[in-house]
Amino acid sequence: MLKELLLQFILSLLPVFAFQLWHDKEQSWKGMSVFMGIFCGASMVFCMITAPNVFGYEVGFYIIPYLIGSLYGGVPTLTALSFIYIGMRIPMLDSVWEFVSFILFIVGFVSLIMLSVRSFDRASVVRKKRKAIILMSVMMLYFIITITGYVSISEVSWSVMMTVLLVLAVAATLSATWLSIFMIENVKEKQLLHMEVKRLSANYRDEVEKLQQFIDETSFGVIVIDREGRITNFNRMATQLLCLRPEYTGAKQLLGAPFPVIFQSGQCDACVKMLYQALNGNKSSLVPFVNGDKKLLLSTISLRTSLNGQNTGAALIAQDVTELRQLQDEVGRMERLSLVGQMAASITHEIRNPMAVIRGFVQLIQERSPKNQQEYFRIIMEELDRANMIISDFLSLAQNRSLTMEPSSLHDIINELIPLLNADANMRGQTIEVSLCKDLPMIMLNDREIKQLFLNISRNGMEAMGDKGSLRISTSYYGSKIELRIADQGVGISPDQMKHLFEPFFSTKTQGTGLGLPLCLSIAERHNGRIDVESKEGEGTAFIVTFFLPEERAS
Ligand code: ADP
Ligand code: MG
Repeated sequence: MLKELLLQFILSLLPVFAFQLWHDKEQSWKGMSVFMGIFCGASMVFCMITAPNVFGYEVGFYIIPYLIGSLYGGVPTLTALSFIYIGMRIPMLDSVWEFVSFILFIVGFVSLIMLSVRSFDRASVVRKKRKAIILMSVMMLYFIITITGYVSISEVSWSVMMTVLLVLAVAATLSATWLSIFMIENVKEKQLLHMEVKRLSANYRDEVEKLQQFIDETSFGVIVIDREGRITNFNRMATQLLCLRPEYTGAKQLLGAPFPVIFQSGQCDACVKMLYQALNGNKSSLVPFVNGDKKLLLSTISLRTSLNGQNTGAALIAQDVTELRQLQDEVGRMERLSLVGQMAASITHEIRNPMAVIRGFVQLIQERSPKNQQEYFRIIMEELDRANMIISDFLSLAQNRSLTMEPSSLHDIINELIPLLNADANMRGQTIEVSLCKDLPMIMLNDREIKQLFLNISRNGMEAMGDKGSLRISTSYYGSKIELRIADQGVGISPDQMKHLFEPFFSTKTQGTGLGLPLCLSIAERHNGRIDVESKEGEGTAFIVTFFLPEERAS
């Protein structure tokens, strides 16, 4: 009899063992009710077939898979298992008492499970165990009552053996229930833990990849070392910015190498010193560093564990500030120039008034002077006019005032000035060729300024050509922009001169002011345009003034 009870015990745990195997493979909670239905159903059938007969009463442990399957599989499994139970049990019923107790059991069991299945799913492990044990105890109580009833009806007398077996069966059922819940929950917990570890390691891998990408792509040069001073990470920028020894420029040689040997001695001693300090836990501030024509800012950080602050290594960070420094120098120079310009502008303005007075009096003296001195007066007046012109140019450059713009035709302005240029060219023995495009739209212009720009560039071209050559003036319209091209066949501009072309006071002419082109550039920019120069020494120069039409300013 004991053997049979042991067999019942093992058969009732069959779904739990199967669940353990299934879960190790499947790793998902889907299909739980189907699985429970199949295995608990099978376990129930086996338990019922092999149930031992204790003095005429069948003591089967089928109630365990029935309960466990219903609790974990939910209502669908409860329904399926109930059908199996009813189908198996009905042919075994051989008395009215058994029939009545069977009906009572089915009604009681199903309604009890229905009541607890929802809250069971969400309960903690301890509560699940408690619930299952309480439910099973209720069942056991019911069975004890029915067995007592059965014994009293069938007039079988109680024996000690019978009591011992009954107590054993009840104890085995309760412990099998507890064991089932314990094992299923254990598997589930292990599974959750496994999933959590997987999620965490995927997150960790993502973060490491992001960090590596950041190190690879950043414009900073980065070298990371471990506690022993060996290189554990670096990026391409570091190999470009820092003076590493030629044999240490590839990942193969660098990774794992001790940091003091990778730097060229002498030049990069500062890097080595800073890394030593960082390894000793001293954080450095930004240190300026020059490597050839590169200006760098170096800094180091010491790396520590967040847990106990233990030193795990250090990192050297190099920032290329060459362009930034150039920009700073340029801005400083511009600021100084602008200040000087403003001062000069106000001084020149003040010079105009005494000059006007001088010119007036010179004119007066000229009228009263003998004829042989008239030439001197002409020269004085000419020079005064030239000085005045320089002041006017300079003031229009420095003032940068806002303009009144009107819709005008660039061609009208050019046509108006061509006779003037022709006369000039004739005197020099040069020719002017004009080729204007068709259907040029009107654009917003300040006539006076555009005339000034056109004359300045054209005169520069004529001055560059000497006593022969042709000045070609042409226009083109490209939809989004208008181009005015003034090309000469003069001496051309050397690359060295080209760098200073638009700087105020840059002139190669003895009588030049060096203000013409800066003025032209500021006029072009005020008209939403720009000036490009194409030049070949000895062949000629072309100045291309581009006017961008509204909303379509290109870079
Ligand atoms: P300026 O004509 O008073 O010298 P600009 O600002 O007009 O001043 O011109 C500056 C300098 O640029 C000139 O002195 C000359 O060296 C150079 N330059 C300008 N235009 C031309 C050109 N078409 N061909 C050659 N050099 C030119
Ligand atoms: Mg000029």
